[in-house]
Amino acid sequence: MKRNTGKNREITRNWRPATQAIRSGTQRTEFGETSEALFLTSGYTYDCAEDAAARFAGEQDGMTYSRLQNPTVQMLEERIAIMEGAEACRATASGMAAMTAALLCQLETGDHIVASRALFGSCRWLADSLLPKFGIETTVIDGRDLDAWEQAIRPNTKVFFFETPANPTMDVIDLGAVCGLAKSKGITTVVDNAFATNVLQRPMEFGADIVAYSATKMMDGQGRVLAGAVCGSEEFIEDTLLAFTRNTGPTISPFNAWVVHKGLETLSLRIHKQSGNAVEVGKFLEQRVEKILYPGLPSHPQHNLAMSQMDAAGPIFSLYVGGGRKEAHALLNALELIDISNNIGDSRSLMCHPASTTHYGLAEESRIEAGITEDMLRINIGLEDPIDLIEDLDQALSSVGL
Ligand SMILES: *Cc1c(COP(=O)(O)O)cnc(C)c1O
Repeated sequence: MKRNTGKNREITRNWRPATQAIRSGTQRTEFGETSEALFLTSGYTYDCAEDAAARFAGEQDGMTYSRLQNPTVQMLEERIAIMEGAEACRATASGMAAMTAALLCQLETGDHIVASRALFGSCRWLADSLLPKFGIETTVIDGRDLDAWEQAIRPNTKVFFFETPANPTMDVIDLGAVCGLAKSKGITTVVDNAFATNVLQRPMEFGADIVAYSATKMMDGQGRVLAGAVCGSEEFIEDTLLAFTRNTGPTISPFNAWVVHKGLETLSLRIHKQSGNAVEVGKFLEQRVEKILYPGLPSHPQHNLAMSQMDAAGPIFSLYVGGGRKEAHALLNALELIDISNNIGDSRSLMCHPASTTHYGLAEESRIEAGITEDMLRINIGLEDPIDLIEDLDQALSSVGL
């Protein structure tokens, strides 16, 4: 088996997205299997000692150890790179492994980063707590405000870090404007694209340098495995990221890589259908609760910006039920079909209370500043019939007097 390079890779890159999702990255063994093989092996053997030496010296193609390379993992990396339109990709054990590696591999003591304040809880912890421990300064700003990005820049600013749409308030960040500003100042942008995925939003087309994923979410799409990925230029991945990941070991299991690889084959179908279901459920909820924040509906203050950089708005939105934690928890407890769960990107509809779960670890002022109030709930809309979801929400709202 050989990595897809040269002519093969060029052909793959020219396919349309639906074909790439099914066909790119595939390598077959001599058995000609249709579904990609799962290589559960930690090591590799060599025909002779000289071959082993040549592989370690980088003079011979081939694998040496699964912390460094694995055929199943390579197939996943190739498929994500092709779908992203990126030169290269490396998969990791989780989304947080991807974010941590993407940042730490390129930063050092004395550097400064600017991050959007509306970030996934653990991403916010990286910015607020981990990086400062190593003497890397962080400025956290409202990522919707282009002037705030510009004003936060210092001579030692190395990275802009953000996600869009952002968890859980669904803030939308102007990809073209922020990436353009970064480029003009020689700053590297790292975009967490877990919510939209490359099917709905391709940040590199707007000038992003690095796109990182929790593949646990929409890419797996069925709530089975943890996985992550970092996409970037060949130079960044080979010269900067690889030294970090190979030696620190945030390696994905080949089994998990295989599951995500198969998940990508249905990603487009799922994410478009779930986005459509989210619009239907969102339109119902808008009539029944105080406020919902879904970039796919005109009521979202950044609806036009979202639709100018995304093909659809994805399966996730937040709602404000009014009152506080008591009302929000009561609504969750009254659900009969939708599960109480903090996962997202699943084919099942799931709902959670961010202030007491996903964002529990944040300082209260950071929570309030990010719009995560006690009456806020976040919902992931799945592949169920949206009428059943609406009926479940309707009975739950009625039973708690909303
Ligand atoms: C879930 C998530 C992460 C973390 O990913 P894991 O796979 O859980 O480690 C990072 N960013 C965003 C936006 C997420 O939704």
